[in-house]
Amino acid sequence: MVLYPNDASENGKELRLRQQYFLASASLQDILYHYVEHNGEDFEAFAEKNCFQLNDTHPTVAVAELMRLLMDEYLLGWNKAWEITTNCMAYTNHTLLPEALEAWPVSMMSELLPRIYEIIEEINKRFLTEIEQNWPGDVDRLDRMTIITGGDYPQVRMAYLAIVGSFSVNGVAALHTQLLKSGLFKDFYELWPDKFNNKTNGVTPRRWLAHCNPELKQLIDEAIGDEWISNLDRLEELRPFAQDKKFQSRWMDVKLQRKIKLSKFIEQQCDVQFDPKMMFDVQVKRMHEYKRQLLNILHVIHLYDRISRGDTEGMQPRCVLIGGKAAPGYAMAKNIIKLVNNVAEIINQNPRCENWLRVAFLPDYKVTAMEMICPATDLSEQISTAGKEASGTGNMKFMMNGALTIGTLDGANIEILESVGEDNFFLFGLDSSQVVEARNDYNPAAIIEADEDFSRVMQLLKSGHFNRHEVSIFDPIINSIYNSGDAWMTAADFRGYIDAQQKVSLAYQDEDNWAKMSILNTAASGRFSSDRTISEYNSDIWNRNRS
Ligand SMILES: *Cc1c(COP(=O)(O)O)cnc(C)c1O
Repeated sequence: MVLYPNDASENGKELRLRQQYFLASASLQDILYHYVEHNGEDFEAFAEKNCFQLNDTHPTVAVAELMRLLMDEYLLGWNKAWEITTNCMAYTNHTLLPEALEAWPVSMMSELLPRIYEIIEEINKRFLTEIEQNWPGDVDRLDRMTIITGGDYPQVRMAYLAIVGSFSVNGVAALHTQLLKSGLFKDFYELWPDKFNNKTNGVTPRRWLAHCNPELKQLIDEAIGDEWISNLDRLEELRPFAQDKKFQSRWMDVKLQRKIKLSKFIEQQCDVQFDPKMMFDVQVKRMHEYKRQLLNILHVIHLYDRISRGDTEGMQPRCVLIGGKAAPGYAMAKNIIKLVNNVAEIINQNPRCENWLRVAFLPDYKVTAMEMICPATDLSEQISTAGKEASGTGNMKFMMNGALTIGTLDGANIEILESVGEDNFFLFGLDSSQVVEARNDYNPAAIIEADEDFSRVMQLLKSGHFNRHEVSIFDPIINSIYNSGDAWMTAADFRGYIDAQQKVSLAYQDEDNWAKMSILNTAASGRFSSDRTISEYNSDIWNRNRS
């Protein structure tokens, strides 16, 4: 009845494994039942008629369970069962973050699922024999690649089981797949280069444009007809309209209507008044340090500091919306939510900020909230540390609805930038290889010291300006920014981010050009339709066995 959330304190708990096994086994048994009904117990055609797309490592126990069912219930031998299994399993990886890779303690798995564990042991034995044959004597490689780790607390690495048991392994954006091949799964790529492929994520234009933004749908239909709904590349036909003053003004009018609508929602939900004439600067996504909501709020504090000292030249009035849920056990994420709320409180009650800056934190972020938010957004914040966001899909929803992106070279942002061109995208920050390079001698204190704006922001935080009667509550955040071990490199990208935000401000003030850039973003969003994604899975993976 209740699926486990991704909760630090619940991770590795037995009930989660029980749920995974229950769902995987029930699915396989159902499919086998129907297969046998139609084909009898001849499994020759099973792999060409069935494909199981393992959505992350969560259902990966299905590799061993299908082996069990074919051998123990349908009496096939190991070799036949293994051939069938490895010809119908395919694995999609969704994250590079090591803490998200599932690994079950051998003690738990062998107690709870003894037969499944026995089968995994046999899969591993045969797999390691293959490695030994390819790289004789390379014991380091055996240690790196083994599905079952050694030591006092041995574990089953589910991602490795998924790779060994599948004919296809894919990442969800070009950079992500590249990083899988060169990093996390490097050894496996060397062994089986042909297994690896990319499937860049997409979002459905039915929900994320036609349904959530009927006003924009209407305007697009009038210009180019409605065939884009099932062939999103046809949004390219909007390009000639990008320079059309009349069309620009109608386009921005739809945006304004949607900003008025969102303002009412924000007033209800957050008790903050947004001014629809200001720029709507939005970051909504799960709360996580790698997504760097913290960098966003540092920019907000910097704007507040500029307003306080009367330096508003070239500043564009903004309403900043930050929204997202944190996993129940993720203390730092909750602390960042608290900081956003406290900063918002101080800014919103300051009369000097009234014409320049409004800030709101939106709780209970969910799909229905996003359906209200993305049509009303001017600026989409996609500011993760490069190399950490596998793809992102929020970035695509915003783009489809004519938001401009301020973003790093991460996940699908790279492909968005490629599609729309650098003139229509606000790029900043280290790229993924520069992040790895800069980690070697990272000195945030020196970066802060050398940057007057940054020093002033940190001084405001350290002085307790945003936590007057809540002594020291933000110390963990402040310390994380100064920590040379900060894996998210917040300080490293501060200056680039602030400068890119200033470019955004100036760009927004050229209304016609902003409208043009906005139209060009929607026009270039065709390749981020989930129709394209699904059709690639279909031709490259699911139909692979069709003769
Ligand atoms: C699209 C969406 C996400 C994913 O957003 P990212 O910015 O890609 O992390 C998460 N939650 C909800 C409710 C969404 O609609």
